[in-house]
Amino acid sequence: MRKKVDSSKVFVMLNYVYGEVLIKRHRKEKKAMTDKEYLRQLRVPTKENPLRILMSACLSGITCGWDGTANGEFPTALKILKSDRVKVVKFCPEEYSYGTPREMSDIYGGNGFDVLEGKARVVSENGEDWTAGMIKASEKMLDLAKQEQIEIAVLMDISAACGSQVIYLGNRFSENKVYQIGAGVSAAQLMRNGVKVISHRDYASLEILYSKIYPNHSLDTSKKDHHETDWYKEYFKI
Ligand code: SF4
Repeated sequence: MRKKVDSSKVFVMLNYVYGEVLIKRHRKEKKAMTDKEYLRQLRVPTKENPLRILMSACLSGITCGWDGTANGEFPTALKILKSDRVKVVKFCPEEYSYGTPREMSDIYGGNGFDVLEGKARVVSENGEDWTAGMIKASEKMLDLAKQEQIEIAVLMDISAACGSQVIYLGNRFSENKVYQIGAGVSAAQLMRNGVKVISHRDYASLEILYSKIYPNHSLDTSKKDHHETDWYKEYFKI
């Protein structure tokens, strides 16, 4: 009798192998995850000429999360929102294409850049192909960034749309969920069109941003970006 193959185990194994390939690719390309030099060179804004920031809407307390809830105002985002030297444009790409509430979605076979190149897909938790809608939403976000002359984007990490440092590789609800280095679809769309992106967990980069929007802010150099944390280095063996 032929032995039945457990397809979920095969999928987990394939995901793991692909994750290893992505990590090797990342090492080879030595990608800078955030551009601190760009942040240092950013102009010092004024009330009359505020810094134009694009933000994942959910970071600002807007109830656009997949289940109709908000994350609350994230402390790192709140500090930006409180400044009178910023103009914050808020956008939720998933809500744009799929409304709220909606299913969760993840990227299979690569990251957001791969999705934009037709090499990977976005699939909702019930198995619907969301690739086209996620690409459409990313284009809308890019249009907004251009229209508003955005100078920096601060996005929610881990999301299949907004993630910029780490996202899931495949199903986040899987028993053996796998993380991958990389951006979600909207973050990738912004990045490949020259918009600088930092995540809400890039604390070192955010420090530089705070020093621009608060003239008296004293830079805390002990802070780390997400890719500089022990968890990241340990998980991705970097
Ligand atoms: S992470 Fe992005 S897509 Fe997800 S809820 Fe927040 S703004 Fe919307």
